[in-house]
Amino acid sequence: MMRSLLLSASQNVWLRDHVPRFRFARRAVSRFMPGEELSAALAAAQTFQRKGLGTVFTRLGENVTEASEAAGVTGHYLEVLDRVKAMGLGTEVSVKLTQLGLDLSPELCFKHLVKIIERAGAKSVVWIDMEASNYVDVTLDLARRARATHPNVGVCVQSYLYRTEKDLATLIPRGLAIRLVKGAYKEPTNVAFPRKRNVDENYFKLTERLLSDEARAARVRVAIGTHDVKLIRRIQAFVTSQGIGKDSLEFQMLYGIQRQAQLQLVEEGWRSVVLVAYGSYWYPWYMRRLAERPANLWFVMKNLFAA
Ligand SMILES: Cc1cc2nc3c(=O)[nH]c(=O)nc-3n(C[C@H](O)[C@H](O)[C@H](O)COP(=O)(O)OP(=O)(O)OC[C@H]3O[C@@H](n4cnc5c(N)ncnc54)[C@H](O)[C@@H]3O)c2cc1C
Repeated sequence: MMRSLLLSASQNVWLRDHVPRFRFARRAVSRFMPGEELSAALAAAQTFQRKGLGTVFTRLGENVTEASEAAGVTGHYLEVLDRVKAMGLGTEVSVKLTQLGLDLSPELCFKHLVKIIERAGAKSVVWIDMEASNYVDVTLDLARRARATHPNVGVCVQSYLYRTEKDLATLIPRGLAIRLVKGAYKEPTNVAFPRKRNVDENYFKLTERLLSDEARAARVRVAIGTHDVKLIRRIQAFVTSQGIGKDSLEFQMLYGIQRQAQLQLVEEGWRSVVLVAYGSYWYPWYMRRLAERPANLWFVMKNLFAA
């Protein structure tokens, strides 16, 4: 019930416009992001790189309503790619299509996406986040179109959706990079498993599919996007039992969550990547982080009373 309440609050326009003004809220969110500016994300990436961790950057924002804003976000990502290259960082980027203008026009959004993919260069994957279920068809469609002409395209899929198994059947043969996550949005029971147990079990089943002979023959890059350490251990045991090697997948986690586990993966010889979010438009994103673990509300309260 708390998850549902927090996810409803994540879509509330009044809260979105007002909460970020409160100092206690800004302090609470700092646990999940190094800062609002790109410079803070770059400094974090340098530190992570020294520790053997990879990074993916995402500038917070979604559902833009002005073409100029979508163009501005695209320009920002082009600058990010130039700066990470100049600094010798292996950082990749992850974009939300509704931030690149999807609600305005899929064609405009696609143009922006391709610009970013081309600037990233063949070896740096541009990851496409998956948003709410009404965007899945168009997101996968644009991802497949981009992959038809560029090798460095990745897309996120969600194990809470019943449809994802079928979607993988169309994505794997095309050799897209795939990030598997559980799913962060409020979805009705006719599209998503309501029980966490089923979401977790489907996650494992989909991972098996991503590590199948077919997927490896298509050279699918597999990113396991979860903080669920028990599930990670189960996946690692599967990899070992199949004798397919630690380089057959990578683990991706969000900045500030399971920090110790992120480092431990590196120590054990797995590829471990931190998704670093930054920017001032953090309210809906932060509410989804609270919904994932309502115990995080205690940090918000602590910061409220420390104010
Ligand atoms: C790299 C990455 C990219 C993502 N991209 C997308 C995307 O494009 N679309 C999308 O819908 N979702 C995305 N997500 C979010 C994802 O869908 C889940 O909502 C989120 O990862 C929580 O699920 P979990 O797999 O960590 O497992 P859970 O079972 O929810 O959590 C397992 C354990 O991890 C810890 N944990 C999890 N979340 C938190 C938190 N917020 N704060 C503190 N501890 C926590 C807790 O200890 C918890 O017990 C992404 C997640 C990651 C890691």
